Amino acid sequence: CVSSLVSMKQGNKPSSSYLLILIAVLFHGTEAFPERAYVSVSYFNTTSNRTETDQCKCGLYGINSPMTTVQGLVGIPTSDNLEACEDTDFTVMRAPWIALIARGNCTFAEKIKWAARKGADAVVIYNTPESANYTILMGHSGTGDTVAIMISSVKGREILRKIEKDFQVTMVIEVGRKHGPWMNHYSIFFVSVSFFIVTAATVGYFIFYSARRLRVTRAQNRKQRQLKSEAKKAIGQLQLRTLKQGDKETGPDGDSCAVCIEVYKPNDVVRILTCNHLFHKTCIDPWLLEHRTCPMCKCDILKALGIEVR
Ligand SMILES: [Zn+2]
Ligand SMILES: [Zn+2]
Repeated sequence: CVSSLVSMKQGNKPSSSYLLILIAVLFHGTEAFPERAYVSVSYFNTTSNRTETDQCKCGLYGINSPMTTVQGLVGIPTSDNLEACEDTDFTVMRAPWIALIARGNCTFAEKIKWAARKGADAVVIYNTPESANYTILMGHSGTGDTVAIMISSVKGREILRKIEKDFQVTMVIEVGRKHGPWMNHYSIFFVSVSFFIVTAATVGYFIFYSARRLRVTRAQNRKQRQLKSEAKKAIGQLQLRTLKQGDKETGPDGDSCAVCIEVYKPNDVVRILTCNHLFHKTCIDPWLLEHRTCPMCKCDILKALGIEVR
């Protein structure tokens, strides 16, 4: 994003920057993010008959897990440790149910397989205590169609405490991408800001460019008008002559007008330029108005007459 803006400053076409940002947004969006899982947990207090619900986008589907929605009661291993590295029963084993297991001591695949053997529909593994709020992407090949997610140690222990206090815990695991691949808040913000910047930069660039062109064109027109009026003045100062019979211009060695290529005849009105070249008045006046130079020797009549144009 930043680099494309910089390249635009260096004079690249704004449309190419647009393309760059679009590509950046698309790549940003479709980047293979690990699949997040929405985890909704309900704690039912059997003594007070009250339910608390808690929802977070804090699960991470394992690499080999099916990306499906699962819900059920949550059970923990009944054995001394909570790692389910060997044959163990769970506190809940009524389908559909979800096994909550601590990370450690054996592979993810082993834990998942032990729980699946007892009929668990999904396995939730919580991270080790020192990892606090972090989750990692689990690899667990060979676990079949058992859904497996990882949650943080903090979240796992929170659920664990409730189960140990005899709450009935229900969990819903859902695929986190509810709004398309990249429509989280951060992405919407990123996309909006980058499009705003590019649009503003493009519009600004065109305004600047158009204004400059307009200014240049106006200055050129002003200069043209000024030159024309000076040329008019200069032409008025140039000598006129009417040719007569017997002048050397009309004789057999006479010249012809360089503009119309006609030979001079008596009664032709000619204009004599500062360089002493002469032409028909009707031929040279329009030319001088535009060019201000002699068509034969390029002599500048404004300079020759000492007229200065600012
Ligand atoms: Zn002529
Ligand atoms: Zn001349």
